[in-house]
Amino acid sequence: MLTVESIDTFYGEFQAMEGVSLKVEKGQTVIVVGPNGAGKSTLLKTILGLQKPRKGSVKFLGEEVSGLPAHKVVERGISMVPEGGRVFPDLSVQDNLRVGSYNPVARPNAQRQMEQIFSLFPILSDRKKQAAGSLSGGERQMLAIARSLMSCPKLIMLDEPSLGLAPLVVNMVFDFIQQMKAEGYAILLVEQNANKALKVADYAYLVESGKLVFEGDRDSFDKNPYIKTAYLGL
Ligand code: ATP
Repeated sequence: MLTVESIDTFYGEFQAMEGVSLKVEKGQTVIVVGPNGAGKSTLLKTILGLQKPRKGSVKFLGEEVSGLPAHKVVERGISMVPEGGRVFPDLSVQDNLRVGSYNPVARPNAQRQMEQIFSLFPILSDRKKQAAGSLSGGERQMLAIARSLMSCPKLIMLDEPSLGLAPLVVNMVFDFIQQMKAEGYAILLVEQNANKALKVADYAYLVESGKLVFEGDRDSFDKNPYIKTAYLGL
């Protein structure tokens, strides 16, 4: 479904990604783990078209999307939940969701999609008229995830959705991720919480200093002595 091949991404002269390749197949949950500053957000931004790679390609559903502006990539079926959720605090829950469907492909389905989202996330339905800024941290993250579904994506990319949330709320967020997986969405999840993320992963990549240094299924991550001590606290 998604094939990233040998991308190099720069900020000015600083190289944030070097030769990164990755795949997500239909219905798969793929995770990217790594420390602060490893380039995980840059990877998602490069896929979405917010950052243009200097080299390499990004193919989605067999077509090259690298070089397209982000809104066109969203129209093709990729959505992103940015780090911290970034909901619009002064808009109501309902209006935040409407913003998510602001593209010609999603707009005709907005009403139906919103009804589905309200059945998937009943708390958001209860709070639909409330300003997003008045929601709890967990509810805001839920709204950010729900907003990303409004663009009718086939692949959802999440940037550190558990960051800054209390442990119980983190569990809730991972439950949503499982739920989305069960709904058939493909998921590309970037996380520092490797333990939690590996539990939902079909396949995983480790990024350090802008390079992919290890990849494999959950089992191979669990068995790798370096990853066990450096990332899993075992
Ligand atoms: P974190 O988990 O802390 O968000 P990350 O793995 O997502 O880290 P990135 O945010 O992708 O890492 O950053 C990768 C590198 O690129 C870092 O060294 C960072 O300082 C640098 N970087 C990120 N954004 C910019 C920018 N807009 N301009 C210059 N350098 C940047």
